[in-house]
Amino acid sequence: MSDPISPPILLVTGAGRGIGAATAVLAARQGWDVALNYRRDTAAAQAVAERVRAQGRRALVVQAEVDDEAQVLAMFGAIDRGLGPLAGLVNNAGIVDVAARVDECSVARWQRMFSINVIGSMLCAREALRRMSRRHGGAGGAIVNVSSVAARLGSAAQYVDYAASKGAIDSFTIGLAREVATEGVRVNAVRPGIVETDIHASGGEPDRAVRLGPQVPMQRAGQADEIAAAICWLLSGAASYTTGALLDVSGGR
Ligand code: NAP
Repeated sequence: MSDPISPPILLVTGAGRGIGAATAVLAARQGWDVALNYRRDTAAAQAVAERVRAQGRRALVVQAEVDDEAQVLAMFGAIDRGLGPLAGLVNNAGIVDVAARVDECSVARWQRMFSINVIGSMLCAREALRRMSRRHGGAGGAIVNVSSVAARLGSAAQYVDYAASKGAIDSFTIGLAREVATEGVRVNAVRPGIVETDIHASGGEPDRAVRLGPQVPMQRAGQADEIAAAICWLLSGAASYTTGALLDVSGGR
């Protein structure tokens, strides 16, 4: 970003670990002040905030469930007061679930998956737009949604519901990008492949990245930093003519 006097302000959801933490730290290195959203682990989010501050940038840690409207409104209010006007949003918070066929799944599982992965991202995007869009008197900005290559692979016999939620994120990215294209806001998605983070343990398979890495065309899993690099490029002025893009960062998978 170009104005060294007033660093741009970025919100990263799910910033306490994994891809979100890597993105927050790299964005700080590239000149962003960062609001770090987390859900459960205050100490982990604070530790990432310290890494942001170590880059000479401001950091604000804000707890909120991304699919709870009251909590999200409170979070954006806290960022307005604590840091200033938002210029970037990374919709990174997301969940998987244990492997299950569609004919074994409960409605409760699907509702949780879609609520966090889809509604949570749409809700945060809505609040970001109300601050960034020129239609609302904002100065413009960039949104990056963290999707998955699962959106095009489908994740059969593992989590088709997760894949479908990321498919919704892809459609949301394309539509929203076109909706706000004249309002100074760019909207893009990064679609990671298999990345070494704790998300695989949440799906009951902690060694999934190690097991599946050799099947990737590049014959390895990705690292969170490699996803963060793509996200930060899409946030940056270097991507000024890129909107509505779905960028696979998947080692060729
Ligand atoms: P991770 O290590 O499990 O991190 C997920 C983050 O999301 C955690 O910080 C978690 O917070 C947060 N989160 C979950 N539900 C939330 C909620 N309701 N409100 C606020 N925060 C919430 O996973 P990751 O691998 O870094 O994943 C980040 C994103 O990349 C996700 O959208 C995921 O679908 C996507 N992705 C990952 C891979 C991969 O192989 N790792 C591949 C493709 C796409 P808590 O710590 O409090 O639970």
